Amino acid sequence: MLEETRANFWTGKAPCWEMFNCPKMIQEECPASKYQALPCWEIEGTYCKLDDYGTSGMDIRICETCQVYKKWGNGQLINLKLFGKGINSSLKALKKLA
Ligand code: SF4
Repeated sequence: MLEETRANFWTGKAPCWEMFNCPKMIQEECPASKYQALPCWEIEGTYCKLDDYGTSGMDIRICETCQVYKKWGNGQLINLKLFGKGINSSLKALKKLA
């Protein structure tokens, strides 16, 4: 699986949930901490993407100005690489069950 076979992006770096002091409950739900092989800005549906820019989880504008991306992104263009694991996807799945 992706998250088990690739190196942890955050090794030796302060991850976003530490830089922003995310509450444990959010940390446990956010795909940024679940899929540490990728930086958070490459993951659709992270908590901050949903919180500030609507519900699609695909809008990376928030990342372009974020201190986490500025610190660890090396100025590389942002491309979403992991889809369907975000908080928005979990909520949609729950709604289908209800
Ligand atoms: S706004 Fe983007 S770069 Fe910043 S912590 Fe959230 S997902 Fe990561």
